[in-house]
Amino acid sequence: MKIALINGDGIGPEQMESARSILYKIDDILDINLEFEEIEAGDSALIKYGKALPDESIEKIKRCDACLKAPIGSSAADVIVTLRRMLDLYANVRPAKTYPTIKALKDDIDIIIVRENTEDLYSGLEYELDDSAIAIKVITRRASLRIAEFAFKMAMMRERKIVHAVHKANLLRKSDGLFALCCREVANRYPEVEYGEMLIDACSMQLIREPREFSIIVTMNMYGDILSDEAAQVVGSLGIAPSANIGDKFAIFEPVHGSAPDIAGKGIANPLSLILSAEMMFEWLSSKDRRCKIAAEMIDNAINNVLRKGIKTPDISGNNNTHEVTSAIINELTNY
Ligand code: ATP
Repeated sequence: MKIALINGDGIGPEQMESARSILYKIDDILDINLEFEEIEAGDSALIKYGKALPDESIEKIKRCDACLKAPIGSSAADVIVTLRRMLDLYANVRPAKTYPTIKALKDDIDIIIVRENTEDLYSGLEYELDDSAIAIKVITRRASLRIAEFAFKMAMMRERKIVHAVHKANLLRKSDGLFALCCREVANRYPEVEYGEMLIDACSMQLIREPREFSIIVTMNMYGDILSDEAAQVVGSLGIAPSANIGDKFAIFEPVHGSAPDIAGKGIANPLSLILSAEMMFEWLSSKDRRCKIAAEMIDNAINNVLRKGIKTPDISGNNNTHEVTSAIINELTNY
């Protein structure tokens, strides 16, 4: 099993050092035969090669089974947007759940935001016209059906089989209207799943007022981007927010947050967002090798135990540094 690793910028390398030692430990225990391919990408590659995502890096990534990526600095969009498009990673999966001892708005929140990852206002179709600027919102039937299908399949694997499609079809009748129609069409094929629709403004409010109402939210690119940052804060911190960019053949796993230049180099970055991203990676890889399922469970168990012991970084009201949290997780893995 070959894993591409992107070190990233800012706190990225600190987080990756932590995640890498956890991957080594897991491999030691489970003997999955993990191989790691170090990929140059981001601000450092831009300085060295004049390109944030050199061609050689792309070729290396394509030869791997999955990619674990730490946050990148100012060239973030050049790397991840290119990879999402090139590898057709159409589903951006962003879980937001409560963890022991991390202060959240409510207990027992367990939401997954499934965000369409390839179109909408982020298609790059933006123009200047005299004194105006125009951005084009692209919504296609194909991408909307595909993401809705993904969300409902995911709901079928969960205890709470509920999907909310989020849009603004009362105003954007054609674009968001098409998205809503597609979600309804897919919902009809999944009678076991409870289906609801919510306007984006109402959903933003409801996420604060009663987040436990939600299980899976499926939405378009921009709304998903914004809602997932909100959801991360609802459960405590961006520092515990992992994500996945999933296509039919490949997937990239990365924290929701950016490179956090304000705390870079201080040794206090929360490594959990990247370690939880590695957990999602093992979940996804478990269809190729069932030992990866055990790896995911081991990571989840270790993180929960470490948090219960109160070992955590300052962003989640702890007193420990990145290294101490990492060592505590490795210790838990050893005792699994
Ligand atoms: P960028 O420009 O790369 O997006 P940013 O600082 O604008 O970086 P984020 O990186 O998303 O935005 O960070 C937002 C805030 O959350 C910052 O104050 C940052 O320190 C904090 N933060 C984000 N990730 C973590 C983490 N893993 N551990 C601790 N604090 C974090």
